[in-house]
Amino acid sequence: MISHKKGASGFRLFHWISLVAIVALLAGCSPFQGNETGADNGQQPAKPEKIERYQGEKSKAVSMVYTTQRQLALTFNGMADKDTMKRLLDELDKYHIKAAFFLPGMRVAEEPDIARQIVARGHEIENNTLNQSDLQGQSYEKMYEDIKLANKVIKRETDKTPRYIRTKSGDYSDDLRLVAAHNGQEAVVSSSLFLHNWQKETEEQKIHYLRKYMNRGGIVAMDTEENKSVVENIRLLAEAATDVGYRFVPLHELIAQGGERKPLQEIPGFDAAKMNAEYYKSKPNLIYRKETDKKLVALSFDDWGTDQTVTKILDILDKKDVKASFFLRADGVERNPNLARAIAEAGHDVANHTYSHPVNTQIALEELQKEIVKAHQVITEAIQQRPTMYFRPPTGAFDEQTLKAIAATGYEDITIYDVTPSDYDKKRNADDIVKAIMEQTRSGSVILLHMLDDIHTIEALPIAIDQLRSKGFTLVPMTEMFGQ
Ligand SMILES: [Zn+2]
Repeated sequence: MISHKKGASGFRLFHWISLVAIVALLAGCSPFQGNETGADNGQQPAKPEKIERYQGEKSKAVSMVYTTQRQLALTFNGMADKDTMKRLLDELDKYHIKAAFFLPGMRVAEEPDIARQIVARGHEIENNTLNQSDLQGQSYEKMYEDIKLANKVIKRETDKTPRYIRTKSGDYSDDLRLVAAHNGQEAVVSSSLFLHNWQKETEEQKIHYLRKYMNRGGIVAMDTEENKSVVENIRLLAEAATDVGYRFVPLHELIAQGGERKPLQEIPGFDAAKMNAEYYKSKPNLIYRKETDKKLVALSFDDWGTDQTVTKILDILDKKDVKASFFLRADGVERNPNLARAIAEAGHDVANHTYSHPVNTQIALEELQKEIVKAHQVITEAIQQRPTMYFRPPTGAFDEQTLKAIAATGYEDITIYDVTPSDYDKKRNADDIVKAIMEQTRSGSVILLHMLDDIHTIEALPIAIDQLRSKGFTLVPMTEMFGQ
């Protein structure tokens, strides 16, 4: 009934003794404290009490936290050997990271000193089930007992009561959420990034990978036993977070500041985009630039990127006091809603660039409408308000039919651009981009830029803003130029 990952028989025996001790502990006759209950030897053990299914609300399930704060949490599963755990704790101290350790109750019983060290260094201890299992397919009663025992051991050895539960894989059922509530735990916590062993990645590839997943509100997880570079990874994670200006905070702090999100249907304007087959009635309004003598210019950013890229763009715009217009690819938004919300909170226009970025003229009109409506809903839910009702077709491709189909959904303003510095091309450096912007921009222009990773837009952006201003241009968001 106990599964082991380690084969050593001594280890197995130790496990057995621990289990006996734990079961005894639950039954109330503690072998740790001697026979103080007065129970006579040979007496029949008391019948286990019947576990009634919990009638209250189930605990929350958390894999990321809805927040636009520049924070995330680091968590661990399992309890590796003493040496690894010590090196891990030292490394966390070195980078001033307070983490959450999901510990199996059994391992805490075996090596309580490690668990106490974790507490002494200021980390959280949480419940990783009794024997780091998945609890899949188990009865309610069995799950309840497992979690309760693990809690009891942790409390006994560290004087800490876990707030959260996580299974080995992070998977959970509704029953486990109920069991969690039954045992007094606030949430079943999985993760937004579970870091397994590296294969043959170079240092550069590892850095690149981690930076891609440094999300606001993210929960990073590693298994201290499975992950062979768990200690070495701390530096990489710390540097990746620092690079984008994010900070690892204790898990309970991150979860505490997470907001509740309104469901889509409760957000005004969630249904502003609809499927509508009456294309012929629609009135598309195609926009490239504004006919004006005023020296106004609008910056627009298309597609999607990592927190590292998008947050840097937001920081530059904030520092230069510029509001811009963002056309989001909603499949990216769906994976990382916090970042979309951060763009909206910073006061920029947030608009629609389809769900999966198909070339509009190459798909059926019904498909196109589905793309637009789905994107509208995903973005609305992410930013918790109706987006700016501007649509921009991917690659700028459209024809009369697609324009009519787009407008029929409710997105009548189809907003293109007239300044195209081709910043999406990795070979174009900052100088090329700035030069193209300055050559093409005139009064009322809309400049097309991208929030893609690994291009040179971030270097070009502050220079372009300064040069545009020195030529007398005022930078405004598209909604200010064209109205909404
Ligand atoms: Zn695009």
